[in-house]
Amino acid sequence: MNVAVIGAQWGDEGKGKIVDLLTPHFQVVARYQGGHNAGHTVLAGGTRFVLHLIPSGILHPGIRCVIGNGVVVDPDALFQEIETLAEYGIEVDDRLVISDKAHLILPYHRDLDLLNEARRGDRKIGTTSRGIGPAYEDKVGRRGIRVGDLFEATSLAEQVRENVHARNRLVGDSALEWRPLVEHLLAHGERMRPWVTDVSVFLAEAMKRGERIMFEGAQGTLLDIDHGTYPYVTSSNSTVGGACTGLGVPPRAVTGVLGVAKAYTTRVGGGPLPTELTGPMAERLRETGQEYGASTGRPRRCGWYDAVTVRYSVRVNGLDSLALTKLDVLDGLPQILVCTAYKCGDQVLTEFPGDIRVLSTCRPIYETLPGWSRPTRGIRRFEELPAEAQAYVRRLEELSGVPVGIVSTGSEREDTVFREGSIVGSWLEA
Ligand code: GDP
Repeated sequence: MNVAVIGAQWGDEGKGKIVDLLTPHFQVVARYQGGHNAGHTVLAGGTRFVLHLIPSGILHPGIRCVIGNGVVVDPDALFQEIETLAEYGIEVDDRLVISDKAHLILPYHRDLDLLNEARRGDRKIGTTSRGIGPAYEDKVGRRGIRVGDLFEATSLAEQVRENVHARNRLVGDSALEWRPLVEHLLAHGERMRPWVTDVSVFLAEAMKRGERIMFEGAQGTLLDIDHGTYPYVTSSNSTVGGACTGLGVPPRAVTGVLGVAKAYTTRVGGGPLPTELTGPMAERLRETGQEYGASTGRPRRCGWYDAVTVRYSVRVNGLDSLALTKLDVLDGLPQILVCTAYKCGDQVLTEFPGDIRVLSTCRPIYETLPGWSRPTRGIRRFEELPAEAQAYVRRLEELSGVPVGIVSTGSEREDTVFREGSIVGSWLEA
């Protein structure tokens, strides 16, 4: 049984906590896309870890953590994360596995990221400026440098020189030296060597031994380069197909798909957000939900739950079940709105429109549900939730077209409801 955990909205759904919670039921946790822009927050034993690149499975002893070919790796960020983990007594040792085909993020990618955003003027994507987009551009442009290239000094030097010269022609106000960068990379390569392997082979062998793999998605479905709100998207496939291409596993290896969605909606950066709130209600959700970026500290845009986007995620990813997070953030609200469809001009849309020019003109059609006054925070049994909170979850299931197998009622591992009879339970037992 191998399960993919996918963000069903615009990222920051609380995947970190859900992945962390389920990890003890797996032997391998594998990341398949994105870079160190991810910023998963995990609370373990009272310590708050923000993991950007290394799968959060690393916090569990014995779990092997894979960085797939679909991920872009900033070696400086990787080693910084390894050092931070070591400060907390967590050694990656032989538990880390890195694909030789993963592309590298190098200092010139960060410069190009800043340049690209500056050129976009008021159409900024709102990237994290960590060089992730330009590294993917180089990958598709077939001039990227991969982890496996770090072990071939001559060809590495040639490619770095070419790429640095190209960068220097574009970024006028400063010049980068290519030779020190090559030295730096060769040293990184030596340090990384014990972890580098053919990940497709590694995972095939693990599966042959009967080990269970969790595919850990970063960002969210609506940020997918193909299926998201293009161009306000990330540079990779965060949807389930990315697990296959980003790790070299066949589609049938993904035997279950769990979507993670917040009980409301947030988004960072530019692009349409149909249920976006402004004023005191937005402030209320942002403050109670602590909706500030884990990587950048940027305030997130907040809005009501949008069943149209989650239905879309169900379709694109084939979600079997949903983990609904941050239900507790809605505690105390007299009423809660849920978007059931969009009104675009004189049309009512029930399917998520692929073109953001259409999406930008959509207005949400809301259904109003009663709130609850008794806190849900920390509740672990569905029956103990206030009746209105139970009804809210049930209505979201109907509107989103997917059962809710997990309800998260707080940031700690223990603040979680596992629904009885859910498919999630069968995954964990199998
Ligand atoms: P991710 O990128 O999808 O992992 O999401 P983030 O890490 O950016 O955001 C999740 C944040 O919400 C973290 O600070 C978590 O500790 C917190 N969190 C996760 N689940 C819950 C929940 O059910 N309730 C509350 N109040 N906080 C939660």
